Amino acid sequence: MTPIFVKEAAGCRLVDEDGNVYIDYVASWGPLIAGHSHPLVVEAVREAASRGTSYGIPSEMEIRMAEEVVDRVPSIEMVRMVNSGTEATMSALRLARGFTGRKKVIKFNGCYHGHGDCLLVSSGSGIVTFGIPGSPGVPDEVVQHTLSLPYNDLGQVEKVMNEVGEETAAVIVEPVAANMGVVPPKPGFLEGLRRLCDRWGALLIFDEVITGFRLAPGGAQEYFGVLPDLTCLGKIIGGGLPVGAYGGRGEIMKKMAPLGNVYQAGTLSGNPLAMSAGLAMLGILKEEGVYETLEEKTAYLVRGLDQAAKAARVPVVVNHVASFGCGFFSREPVDDFESALKSSTEAYAVFFQEMLKQGVYLAPSQFEAFFVGLAHGKDDLDRTIEAAMQALKRVRENCAF
Ligand SMILES: *Cc1c(COP(=O)(O)O)cnc(C)c1O
Repeated sequence: MTPIFVKEAAGCRLVDEDGNVYIDYVASWGPLIAGHSHPLVVEAVREAASRGTSYGIPSEMEIRMAEEVVDRVPSIEMVRMVNSGTEATMSALRLARGFTGRKKVIKFNGCYHGHGDCLLVSSGSGIVTFGIPGSPGVPDEVVQHTLSLPYNDLGQVEKVMNEVGEETAAVIVEPVAANMGVVPPKPGFLEGLRRLCDRWGALLIFDEVITGFRLAPGGAQEYFGVLPDLTCLGKIIGGGLPVGAYGGRGEIMKKMAPLGNVYQAGTLSGNPLAMSAGLAMLGILKEEGVYETLEEKTAYLVRGLDQAAKAARVPVVVNHVASFGCGFFSREPVDDFESALKSSTEAYAVFFQEMLKQGVYLAPSQFEAFFVGLAHGKDDLDRTIEAAMQALKRVRENCAF
């Protein structure tokens, strides 16, 4: 029955090769905030394709995209397009090291920054789902300058920076951790990282590949009011096509070749199809009240799931921020990787399969997020909550925890 193979998708619905229809909360892992095959995105891609699929030199669409990003994201003065979130974090890290002339980088346990070698340490997403600590193929030497610390533990960061602050090029963080399930930052955590980076002359990098354009027009940095030096973008900015971007203060970005000497390039970067899809998506997100609507829908769903869990007497902790979240099968609050790992993956597996049977597609792992989008209607949310009531009964019957 799983994995399902998708035949087509529209709005919040996926249809598999057997003709089963699912309400989709994965949304291609986040990009499709306006739903699948949004007519404006499809039309933009069709129109762009008729004018050429790749040029390898700049086009006006790239400029328009850069202007949209600089307009919305508070800390970005200059931005460069790449082809994935992984490329964005790899490049931002190289830039941070090139700019500071330092080697060390601090990341956080359970945060995922794509599959670049030097960030693949105590990583979230597939790495935690499959229970592997790192990845074969990444030599120790490559990660010897990577320090991974507990998320939400500012004291640890302070302690480590007291030792290696002067060698630290960057602190990279998901401003809302969304690859170990969803774990919001504790009040003061992001502010504290900002302060420590300033004190030690390290760059603060927000990996906003998931949070960018989702929490607010300006992403998590707008939502929480903490400005990083560099920002990584991906997912929504491509409107469902392969795109990433990184940007920040002009002084730092000018260190990139050809203005500076830190090298990074990409054959298909700024690709016209991807730019047009992304611009269409960002256009949709400009409509009045979009973010309020998304938050209301999500709050409604989370309330329903909470009540369903209580009614079924199954301990579930639902974390959410703006329009994404995660239900952990746990009795304890989940505020870091360690507490996330205490949740019952066995219960989640039962829940996932039961939801799937009832036509609701969730991420097939406890350590991923659900994404609510503009295409989810109230009836879809109600159907999801009803399905959850049934599924949670099954969890109650089948799992002892
Ligand atoms: C998805 C994700 C990435 C990687 O992006 P890809 O486009 O899959 O390479 C990086 N960082 C975060 C926070 C992500 O969620």
